[in-house]
Amino acid sequence: MHAHRHQISRPESGGNYQLSSFHFGTPGRGKKVYIQAALHADEIPGMLVAQFLRTRLATAEADGSLQGEVVLVPAANPLGLAQAIHGAPFGRFDLTTGTNFNRAYKHVAEDLKSSLDGKLTADAAANVSLVREHALASVANWQPSTDAEALKKILLGLAIDADIVLDLHCDNEAVMHIYTGTPLADAIAPLTSLMGAHAVLLALEAGEEPFDEACSRLWWDLDAHFGAATPIPMACLSTTVELRGEMDVSYELAEKDADALIAFLIHSGVISGPLPPLPAPLCEPTPLEGVEPLSAPHAGVVVFRQPLGARLAAGEAVADLIDPVSGAVTTIRNTVPGVFFARTAHRHLLRGMAIGKIAGATAFRAGKLLSS
Ligand SMILES: [Zn+2]
Repeated sequence: MHAHRHQISRPESGGNYQLSSFHFGTPGRGKKVYIQAALHADEIPGMLVAQFLRTRLATAEADGSLQGEVVLVPAANPLGLAQAIHGAPFGRFDLTTGTNFNRAYKHVAEDLKSSLDGKLTADAAANVSLVREHALASVANWQPSTDAEALKKILLGLAIDADIVLDLHCDNEAVMHIYTGTPLADAIAPLTSLMGAHAVLLALEAGEEPFDEACSRLWWDLDAHFGAATPIPMACLSTTVELRGEMDVSYELAEKDADALIAFLIHSGVISGPLPPLPAPLCEPTPLEGVEPLSAPHAGVVVFRQPLGARLAAGEAVADLIDPVSGAVTTIRNTVPGVFFARTAHRHLLRGMAIGKIAGATAFRAGKLLSS
């Protein structure tokens, strides 16, 4: 293992921010895996999972079972980790710009459509190498104008040529769930089983350029652009793994999740060893366009009437919203049947605030599909 420190802030800046990445195995030998935790800096479960991964990867490197390269970034957002407002950690948005740390990554396919013109061949493997080379060059040409953009450039530069990208997040309160690209539905199946995901949400384009998609969507965009004569495989299995809710930080959960990720790396051929059994999956993938977000029609105290992970028919009483002044009670019902996979961590909501999300099987939404 060797460690790299990447400078985020400029030398003349009052603050000195650096990102640390830990590199296991040999670059260019076998598959490359990129794992980062806490891109939204106040999403802690992934950082504790990384603590276990660090040990397991070092062991795999020492005993020779590591067949590829693994880059681990255990704290992906030093800028957000330094943010707190009146005692509350605040790591989702950059306070300087208001921009979500998991949005606005460079979609390099736009550069590559011109830079690769006339260079691809009928050799899919050669095309993969060429796309990666040009993708790295496109990221290198990104001119960041803020510290947050400088961080995003560093992270994307570490990940965009990887075969597997695991971006470890969590929701407010949630069961385990996974976001990935629609063309990756089959490839994600072992991870779904091993992690025990209750929902797998697929999109070709979620909107606003989240990190995982910046690593994967170029492949299907370029494949569609250049056509069948120059095959471009889906060479990056990139996913956002939502490790339950923000309070689900325990040694037991983190060790179990780290074990599941290591088992996935064994299934992916990155670590050699006996194949761990794949548990029966808890869900089938469903479209991100099928997720029903529930929001508060008025301010009030929210009382949940359904547990997380519940499989709901349409029209069930998910929660009550109680106006504490008038005493009026509004029962919040889902219209889409599906899995109740995430909900707010607040218990008093203002009008329009999010209550929860249900993963339905049928697409019905369009536009920006992720919550802000
Ligand atoms: Zn997140």
